[in-house]
Amino acid sequence: MKNCSLIPKELINIITKNTPLKEVLRLAAPCRCDACNNGCKFGSGSLAGDDAKRIAAFLGVSGEDLKKGFLEEIELFNKRLLRPKLIKEKGKPYGKCMFYDDNKGCTIHEVKPLECKTSIQCKGYGEELSVWFMLNHVVDAGSPESIRQYAQYIKSGGRLIPGASLEELVPDKERLRKILSYELL
Ligand code: SF4
Ligand code: SF4
Repeated sequence: MKNCSLIPKELINIITKNTPLKEVLRLAAPCRCDACNNGCKFGSGSLAGDDAKRIAAFLGVSGEDLKKGFLEEIELFNKRLLRPKLIKEKGKPYGKCMFYDDNKGCTIHEVKPLECKTSIQCKGYGEELSVWFMLNHVVDAGSPESIRQYAQYIKSGGRLIPGASLEELVPDKERLRKILSYELL
């Protein structure tokens, strides 16, 4: 593994739900090594923002061909996301990312999906960055079902960062009550 500088504890606390993307990308190291690559053997990271455009340009394919040939849809917190296709072994729900090469690692490293960029293993704040991705690109405060699933995540002990409480995501107390009691579907 390449050397990763140790990050002071104070820095961990600066990652909040509202940390700007530019700052997140500064914290998400552009390096590559086996520790971060390991996850690519069992799954792939979701796209966000203009990832699809950048990956399509990098591969020299149209947006439509990218979707058909290289991406698959998944649902998380009631939201549909795209991620690189997995090469699954028969009978297994997981598999290697189609962009992962056993010798070279990620073959689209320069333009890899935002979730991949924010999944870093050797720094003290990797988990916080993953939660930042989930809150900014997966959980949808406008969707009651998404909020209910997020409430379950919190209940089961899921990691939180500042700005990520249910009350902060849905500041209208009455709306939150109706969502959690299934009065709002
Ligand atoms: S951030 Fe990931 S790729 Fe970079 S050195 Fe640490 S473990 Fe390796
Ligand atoms: S796109 Fe690259 S970093 Fe992301 S899962 Fe695939 S091989 Fe890994």
